[in-house]
Amino acid sequence: MGAKKKLIILSNHFYFTIDILINFIILLTKLLVLNMKKLIYTFTMLAFGLHSIAQQKSTLCGTDEHNKFLQSTNPQLKIEEENFNKNWKNYLQTVNLNDLKKANKLGKTSAPKYIIPVVVHVIHSGTTSSTNISDAQINSEIDFLNKSFRNLNSDSVNRREIFKDIAADCEIEFRLAKKDPQGNCSKGIVRVYSPNTNLGDDILKRISVWDSRSYLNIWIVERILKEVSNGIVAGYAQFPFGSSSASTDGVMLDYKYFGQLTPSDNIFNTTTTHEIGHWLGLYHPFQGDSCNNTDNDGLSDTPPTYNPDGARNGPFSATLNTCGTDNPDLVDQQENYMDYFNCKDKCQNMFTYQQKARMHYCIENYRREIFSVENRVKTGIDNPTVTCEAIPSIYSNNKNICFDGLVTFNQNVYNGTATAYNWTFNGGTPSTSTLATPGAIKYNTNIENDSSYDVKLSITTNGKQIDSTYKNYVTVLGSKKVVKAEINYADWQYANDWYDKGWRFESENGRAKWTRIAGISYNGIASMKLEDDPFNSVPSSGIEQSLISPSFNLSGSISPTFRFAYSTALVTGPPPSNTKSTDDLRVYQSINCGTTWTPMTGTGSAYTSPAISTTGPTYLNWATGFVPSDKSKWREVSLAAPSVPNVRFKITLLRKGGSNFYLDAVRVSSSGGVGINDELAKSINFNVAPNPFNTTTELSFELNKSSEVNISVIDILGRNIGTLLKANTNVGSHIVNLDRNALGLNNGIYFVKVEIGNQSFVKKIMVN
Ligand SMILES: [Zn+2]
Repeated sequence: MGAKKKLIILSNHFYFTIDILINFIILLTKLLVLNMKKLIYTFTMLAFGLHSIAQQKSTLCGTDEHNKFLQSTNPQLKIEEENFNKNWKNYLQTVNLNDLKKANKLGKTSAPKYIIPVVVHVIHSGTTSSTNISDAQINSEIDFLNKSFRNLNSDSVNRREIFKDIAADCEIEFRLAKKDPQGNCSKGIVRVYSPNTNLGDDILKRISVWDSRSYLNIWIVERILKEVSNGIVAGYAQFPFGSSSASTDGVMLDYKYFGQLTPSDNIFNTTTTHEIGHWLGLYHPFQGDSCNNTDNDGLSDTPPTYNPDGARNGPFSATLNTCGTDNPDLVDQQENYMDYFNCKDKCQNMFTYQQKARMHYCIENYRREIFSVENRVKTGIDNPTVTCEAIPSIYSNNKNICFDGLVTFNQNVYNGTATAYNWTFNGGTPSTSTLATPGAIKYNTNIENDSSYDVKLSITTNGKQIDSTYKNYVTVLGSKKVVKAEINYADWQYANDWYDKGWRFESENGRAKWTRIAGISYNGIASMKLEDDPFNSVPSSGIEQSLISPSFNLSGSISPTFRFAYSTALVTGPPPSNTKSTDDLRVYQSINCGTTWTPMTGTGSAYTSPAISTTGPTYLNWATGFVPSDKSKWREVSLAAPSVPNVRFKITLLRKGGSNFYLDAVRVSSSGGVGINDELAKSINFNVAPNPFNTTTELSFELNKSSEVNISVIDILGRNIGTLLKANTNVGSHIVNLDRNALGLNNGIYFVKVEIGNQSFVKKIMVN
């Protein structure tokens, strides 16, 4: 590992045999789907792990690794970081370091210069699991941060004389938010269940994130998923330079390194202090693997240190100087929060006055909004006595199941404690429970239909009953409600009946929604549009938006296909970063009613940027608001589907800074059926002449077998204006007259909708 040198050791940790095995197996499984290179690497890791059992292992900071990863996917970030450091260097030349040092106040209890609202997202593996850390543990960490950033920590007495006058009161305070982004009462703590809490990375952050312009997001997970060979990662931060991503901005920490785990544990872990130092722009004193002071952390009051092995295991002499032979300097500042010397967290006890200046410079340049007066009001942090009403919140092992399937429910109660529970499971057996964890509920009520059911939880807290209802929480696929393969498509084109037909849109983030939009389409008159999301304009992990199909019986079908059309463009994000969009499009199938999803294969099953663009390689300005001007700006995707009796499809857009995205003509067809629209129209020689027309026009078509034919006229909003033909129609040529006066048509665009059997198409007509 080339980056080994840059890893720093935050504390020592003994691996537990089973723990390491299980986690490497999880990692192995996850990486299996990636590539051989990673597979070999993982085997190496596994072998390493097995040989290392019972050896002392190190816990590491993953910030440098993470920054390197982000820059590899977005080279612009590297330029931004270099620009920042250039500006910082210029700034330092304009200030008198002696004045800066003199102005530095030690351990003052004056009002802080900056107050930062904090939200802690506890991503746990179950309410009673150790990962669901207590409010007390969270509060103990906030308390410690406010000591360490203000030089009020009791262990500052251990500081050596030579560093005493450069230690700084950073004048930064952290407060748990009292209001959430919607203005609701909050404790600044969010608890979310996830079975993936042992896979902590930027993707997991999507499960819960508040606007990072207003809050410092702290995510607590069971384990951080970072590839390091010589230890485990205890935490990582996102640097503030530029704006690499609004939706991943913050720090993630292993729950074992956050706060005071037990009251008797009087040694505080300094990991969170260290990571927030990175979040405010600080580097490690050994940055750049160089003993040259100007090359490492850009500060002259943190003597350069050298960390060749990624480990600094003590005990350390007071005269230790890892860079002393190359470049005579002061002894290593073992006290600094941003370095690591393993002395069981006893030796980290200070930031320097230049580190303070750099953090302030970062706040003023990149995080201005977060400490503003407006934001203090918005996040409620000045209100000392807020008591929020308790809220019950439910989670389950599954939401989409087959008929007769089981769902296991659990709950969290925010802002309070429940003394009684009353569950109601519509459509479930049993249909009620008074247990805190009610066990598995069976869904087998409605055998015919694809159904969604509400789940309600009422709790009693302080003698008061509080209800929480989750609408359509469980979706059960009726055993007989499997759509025949022939042709079925998400029919938002001329009616909003796609939901009734079992199609579902899912948005991971409530801010972004799919909307039916008339006037823009691949064929027909409307498509589904996903608006670009300015909040998420430059994210690294993105936000998922999906369309899920109903189940199809493709058993016995010859060459069944899943098809759709989409349109999107590449876009450059807002200044100063001008980050380029990197959206991904992926198509999945499920043969267990949506419980698990497998990526489909073949051309069109996965697109990354820039190939995802249907409009060429040009990056539009982020504010353009992309609209496809004609059919050539769309791309049709056709994927081979499995010939099985029960299959669903899912189209997922992983939105990473992209422009508007349009989806249309989504359907499943099998050999023997004709295609929709153009193909069906062509097969019956359908024609409208004249078109445009003034008073009357003629619709002509030919049938080669007698069929039920239904022809109607609809307007641009999809409303039915009138029926022209509804009859069993014989083989041969047919002409149907359309009279504008009979239908009361105004000048403008209308559509003729033709249904033959269970297939249909629309044709645009114009009256003038
Ligand atoms: Zn670090």
